[in-house]
Amino acid sequence: MNIDNQKPFIAGNWKLHKTIPAAIELVKALDEAIMELADAEIVVIPPFTALSEVGKTLQGSTIKIGAQNIFWEEKGAFTGEVSAPMLKDAGCQYAVIGHSERRQFFGETDETVNKKIKAALTHALTPIVCIGESLEEREKGETIDKVDSQIKAGLDGLGKEEMSEIIIAYEPIWAIGTGLTATPAQAEEVHSFIREKLTEKYGNETATCAIILYGGSVKPDNTYSLLKEQNINGALVGGASLEADSFIQIAKESIKAYKEK
Ligand code: PEP
Repeated sequence: MNIDNQKPFIAGNWKLHKTIPAAIELVKALDEAIMELADAEIVVIPPFTALSEVGKTLQGSTIKIGAQNIFWEEKGAFTGEVSAPMLKDAGCQYAVIGHSERRQFFGETDETVNKKIKAALTHALTPIVCIGESLEEREKGETIDKVDSQIKAGLDGLGKEEMSEIIIAYEPIWAIGTGLTATPAQAEEVHSFIREKLTEKYGNETATCAIILYGGSVKPDNTYSLLKEQNINGALVGGASLEADSFIQIAKESIKAYKEK
């Protein structure tokens, strides 16, 4: 099934947070509010340990589940890794690939990102591919070049069919977990560049339907102005996804922005 951006896409990346009971408590609270969030696509991205129980808790719910990482091989002597079939088995539909924290602390490169995207697609997991510049790169005026090179290398060898199953998340590294958010204009500039690149590479139809998320200190009070921008189709939310109230509020603000776009 090809993705489309008719609804805002709101994903909560829990990072290294939540035991299994805490994860279940959070998704139950989200599920109770789901009727009000029907006009958004809601995804939770718990730590690996909680995936399976979250999957059981959300059976029959429209809330979807993603993994924070994936390995490119299906099985074998790769201690500590988790493969696409294992993630599917645990109830995942999405996988975050190339988050800046993984690039920064765990040696993720555009090359490994590319392999992981291919592995995810082979097993019908939708990749959420993270790209974005550091503060230094922004200050040197290298933002667009950086994003361009990450798109080129990360999506290398992938065709139009594959691109129609991939979500891109633009996350300026300087805005992640810092409380600093890109202004709507700063975010839109990069988002429109990304859509332009996708148009060049894959044509108008694929680029128009593509989901391009913004991530970096998204909170209830900045969601509306970001999501009102033409090329911002949703948010990848870290800190503010850890509490049901703020995550629900972000989803509601995104629905409002989308309706008024
Ligand atoms: C993230 O984890 O991708 C993220 C954007 O985190 P935060 O919302 O906390 O900045």
